[in-house]
Amino acid sequence: MPPIIGIDLGTTNSLCAHLVEGVPRLIPNAVGEVLTPSVVGVTESGQVLVGAAAKELRVTQPDRCASCFKRFMGSNETLAIGGQSFTPIELSSLVLQSLRDDARHHLREMVTEAVITVPAYFNDNQRQATKLAGEMAGLLVRRIVNEPTAAALTYGFHDRNSEKRLLVIDLGGGTFDVTLMDVFEGTLEIVSTAGESFLGGEDFTDRLVATLLQKQGLQLESAELREPLRVARLRQQCETAKRQLTTKESVVITLPDDVGHLLPDAPTVRIDRTSYAKLVSPLVERLSQPVAKALRDGQCNPADIADVILVGGATRMPVVADFVREFLDKEPLCKFNPDEVVGLGAAVQAALIADDQAVEDLVMTDVCPFTLGIEVVKEFLGEIKPGYFVPIIHRNTTIPVSKEEPFQTVAPNQREVNVVVYQGEHRRVEKNFKIGELKVTGIPPGPAGKQFFVRFTYDINGILEVEAYLPESPKKFRTVLTQHAKSFDKQELEDAVRKLQSLKYYPREDLVNQRLLRYCERLVGEVSPFHRSELEAAIDTFEAAMSSGEREAVEFAHNGLLQILSTLGYEFRGDRE
Ligand code: ADP
Ligand code: MG
Repeated sequence: MPPIIGIDLGTTNSLCAHLVEGVPRLIPNAVGEVLTPSVVGVTESGQVLVGAAAKELRVTQPDRCASCFKRFMGSNETLAIGGQSFTPIELSSLVLQSLRDDARHHLREMVTEAVITVPAYFNDNQRQATKLAGEMAGLLVRRIVNEPTAAALTYGFHDRNSEKRLLVIDLGGGTFDVTLMDVFEGTLEIVSTAGESFLGGEDFTDRLVATLLQKQGLQLESAELREPLRVARLRQQCETAKRQLTTKESVVITLPDDVGHLLPDAPTVRIDRTSYAKLVSPLVERLSQPVAKALRDGQCNPADIADVILVGGATRMPVVADFVREFLDKEPLCKFNPDEVVGLGAAVQAALIADDQAVEDLVMTDVCPFTLGIEVVKEFLGEIKPGYFVPIIHRNTTIPVSKEEPFQTVAPNQREVNVVVYQGEHRRVEKNFKIGELKVTGIPPGPAGKQFFVRFTYDINGILEVEAYLPESPKKFRTVLTQHAKSFDKQELEDAVRKLQSLKYYPREDLVNQRLLRYCERLVGEVSPFHRSELEAAIDTFEAAMSSGEREAVEFAHNGLLQILSTLGYEFRGDRE
């Protein structure tokens, strides 16, 4: 049977994993790493780059790259790179394609099926968009799983015989998710989940960037438009500094000039842990609300929690562990690499779908992360007011679930009802998210107050089916909302796939070289002018060797370049500072 791979399609990094001899393992990419930055670039010669090489390119040529596009999934936004326009679905699809190729390469098998994770707070549109991105990458998406659920699966998989309550805290690059779950006798039961879709490690970096720009009299938003090279370089400096502050007491940040160069006499700023903690405290404060909500929904006290599990690269920041200690009075647990837990869990989920023996005794139940309901009118002292929300499935109900509620017509001889479906927690629909509608027609004439029923069925993929019917009539009105919500038909999907196929991709075997080239191009703006020409000469030789296509020459130039880097005091380790 062809393998089903597990994919964590992250805002910042993506990973894929599968089960090896009954244990989830990550699959390395073309440059030998397990984290593939979710960055897409188009080189000067029009070739598409995905991952580490694109992330390097982003520092010197931000207009040729797109990142953080997961934040726009499900929207109509498009991103321009190198003069071409891409939708978030297409960009995600390029990342998925690259992961699929890595898996094919590594497993030496056709890989056509996958489980993909999404933030618990992704709405129907965003889930459908993710599924579509998978299809466009030639993957049959067997399941969309909530990221915190996948994280919990990793822990539950390794600790399945215990009996305890866990709280999973996932702070990634762009989203924050909290999940309360119970483990008992091999069963993982998600109790409640809450989160914020616009809070992640990138906001911490941005806060540092904005502060340093402010010190120079600049505003982040306008500087991003007017001096993108300065901002791109500063962001990269701040990202490194932020990571270093995880292990160091203080760091020095060199401020780039308006074209992104780090000149020898450039101003520097020293930041220590305490001042960083103070700077990001408004962001840390925002962590408490979703945690409190998940506990409230699960009717749980902090004292009931056995373990707090940290997931997501940004939980490496000491401020997050401090928050857990303070807010929950617990020492957080970090048994696995926090940025790998979701990917590993996706592989466990894939194994569950494939009926793999290794997970025979494992059962998992998930919840619907948000409330689903319809719009109704209310009558106040004879006055009819529209726009109210009535829940049908409450948030944190265990799924799959099917629930039915009775409703009534409001006007005499009302022949039609438009059932408008929303997701959200507010009592007024305008504050919630509309996910679709269903028209009920052919209601026989009669007085107001004629009863009809609406049934919601929410499946394990987070896909909602809505049915409505009149008790006296056999006819049912039915819609699967996600298929209606801005979904592609076959033709559109084929067109999209054709567009992706027509792109020129950078050859996989040359990605390591391409990444080194982009890294060195970044350094050109960083080394002292005294060494610049030496470095440039070595880059020229390397580029010439690469275009000649002669393996030996490329290898020779590659090594020469590494040697020069080392004499200049740089070690090429890629992304992981
Ligand atoms: P996502 O799931 O959104 O792709 P990840 O779990 O990979 O995100 O986490 C990425 C975020 O973690 C980024 O914002 C990155 O800056 C941050 N991060 C990674 N390592 C560290 C570290 N050592 N210290 C602080 N932040 C880190
Ligand atoms: Mg993540």
